[in-house]
Amino acid sequence: MTHRFLVAGEQLRGDHVRFTDAQAHQIRSVLRLRRGDQVRVFDGLNLVDRRVELTDTSAGRVVGEAAQAPEPRTRLSVYPALLQRDKFEVVLQKLTEIGASAIGPVLTTRALVREAPDARRYARWRTILGEAAEQCGRGVVPELLPTLPLPAALVASDGCRLLAYEAERRLELRAALEGRRSRVALFVGPEGGFTAEEVGCARQAGARIISLGPRILRAETAALLASTLVLYELGDLSWPVSSK
Ligand code: SAH
Repeated sequence: MTHRFLVAGEQLRGDHVRFTDAQAHQIRSVLRLRRGDQVRVFDGLNLVDRRVELTDTSAGRVVGEAAQAPEPRTRLSVYPALLQRDKFEVVLQKLTEIGASAIGPVLTTRALVREAPDARRYARWRTILGEAAEQCGRGVVPELLPTLPLPAALVASDGCRLLAYEAERRLELRAALEGRRSRVALFVGPEGGFTAEEVGCARQAGARIISLGPRILRAETAALLASTLVLYELGDLSWPVSSK
């Protein structure tokens, strides 16, 4: 696929696109593109890509449009417990590819990471989400929600709320979804798991406690698997009939 760039509104004026220094560097030195070559740009709001012909390596002109990967109909908000840096960044990247609409980092009792991230970390996370959207063809960058302790995140979430707990044996994800749901909020614990109190708190808040099977998954695996299963069960990993 033609390389895609996420651009801020002010980078696009009429049919003229100006790339940031980082993007220009990538165009010139990494992709080795030249005047006359084409890329695509999207702004995270309009659900169509613009095809752009480069006028030099830092600017271009819109010459047409191109379709984006269709967004899931389900609004899936994932609330993963904060993990060590590398693992959490992989989770952010993969959740974008899979099709999460929003991601809310959660502070939990047994996590190895206990402090809320600072503004620099948030900026880095936004870059990771944007780059994952560029790569996977999405026109929408998942919304990055504030980091909250589990009880507050439960209150802030809505729709069908599910919490993955390895000690749960009965309720499977499919049964918990009970047919089509338009909004799903999915909670996944840290390396050390949720405490019994946290699970009790989620139950009281109306969340359904689900099993992901008889094997214990690592936190990052659980977040990606559960998200995939939700979107698969709800039909969001199929091509819409109109675009087949
Ligand atoms: N340290 C814990 C496991 C934590 S696994 C222990 O050894 O008991 C990390 C997170 O992944 C859990 O909090 C849970 O949300 C999810 N998870 C992993 N395996 C799961 C399973 N089989 N069913 C449901 N959730 C699971």
